[in-house]
Amino acid sequence: MANPKSLNVRAYIGIGSNLEQPLAQVKSACKVLAAHPHITLVDTSPWYQSKAVGPGSQPDYVNGAGLLNTALAPEELLDALQAIELAHGRERSVRWGARTLDLDILLIETLTQQTPRLTVPHPRMTERNFVLQPLLDLNPTLQLPDGRHIDHLLNIIGTQDLAVIKEGH
Ligand code: AMP
Repeated sequence: MANPKSLNVRAYIGIGSNLEQPLAQVKSACKVLAAHPHITLVDTSPWYQSKAVGPGSQPDYVNGAGLLNTALAPEELLDALQAIELAHGRERSVRWGARTLDLDILLIETLTQQTPRLTVPHPRMTERNFVLQPLLDLNPTLQLPDGRHIDHLLNIIGTQDLAVIKEGH
């Protein structure tokens, strides 16, 4: 059951794609998120082009982040994100393989949890500039639940292989 509105939480999610017109995929995902009855899409970051991490050679990714307000419990939010991935043709065959849409829960308020299905904060987010940079765009003073600052973590790993996608206005 969704929380009552008064228990809405702020959640940051990662949004990525490297197949079938990635920019269209991530934008479509945002539209679906915004239309969800228990999710308010508060803001989205600029989109970035990044090099693929994982096996073999893959096309570049488009990555960004979204700030949500949601009445959903963490696992319900994961259900909602996975349903949107599936609706965008996501196949879970190869771990870290190419994908039409990848939606990850990065942060939910100051929650820390580690269950077989869901780890929050996302366990690999601190190693990925294509996650940290869009988060910083959304909130320059954002911190992890343990107090580490996102801008400090990004300074450590650097912004190599990351290019903002300039869109016409
Ligand atoms: P991926 O292939 O990277 O999208 O990973 C999906 C798997 O990671 C799913 O089986 C999820 O249950 C699990 N998972 C664990 N923590 C998270 C998280 N914070 N966000 C999204 N998926 C997660």
